[in-house]
Amino acid sequence: MKIAIFPGTFDPLTLGHIDLIKRGRALFDQLAVAVMTNTSKTPLFTIQERVEQIREATAGMDNVSVITTSGLTVKLMNKIGADYLMRGLRNTTDFQYERDIATMNKFLDHDVETVFFLADPQYQHLSSSLLKEVAISGGDISAYLPGKINEALEQRLKERQLKRATDD
Ligand code: ADP
Repeated sequence: MKIAIFPGTFDPLTLGHIDLIKRGRALFDQLAVAVMTNTSKTPLFTIQERVEQIREATAGMDNVSVITTSGLTVKLMNKIGADYLMRGLRNTTDFQYERDIATMNKFLDHDVETVFFLADPQYQHLSSSLLKEVAISGGDISAYLPGKINEALEQRLKERQLKRATDD
């Protein structure tokens, strides 16, 4: 049984992530999307909100589960019996960062194999942070967000009064 984990911040989940989840679930028997809490980024959505958003967007994908952890990814992998760690590559900046993480994970646990997916050209310019920046400045990014995530994002920006006036 090939079990993979796809760890990330997913703040919020984008169609770029969904594309990877679909490709990963076709390759592996089981795929656990792991919302990681130990990130230096300050998230817009809580862990529970992100878990719910991903559950909704992956409903019907029978071999996909959504989990969360604050610890080391390799420890979580051992706990759930995963040997493969999935990550996406959009550009050379991603590559350099991801190579270091993959090498460190291999050092921590030699059995962990990181599998990289090249971003689909239609999504390779997408990151959660870029989408948030554009939304804050009043741009319509709904085409890149699954389900009701765009509405949730608009709502959260309003609540936090993060949206800039569009005419400045
Ligand atoms: P992290 O903070 O761990 O980088 P992200 O949610 O930003 O979390 O990304 C999780 C994973 O998804 C990373 O491997 C990232 O490279 C990949 N990813 C993000 N956006 C895209 C995209 N548009 N296409 C392909 N992979 C992507």
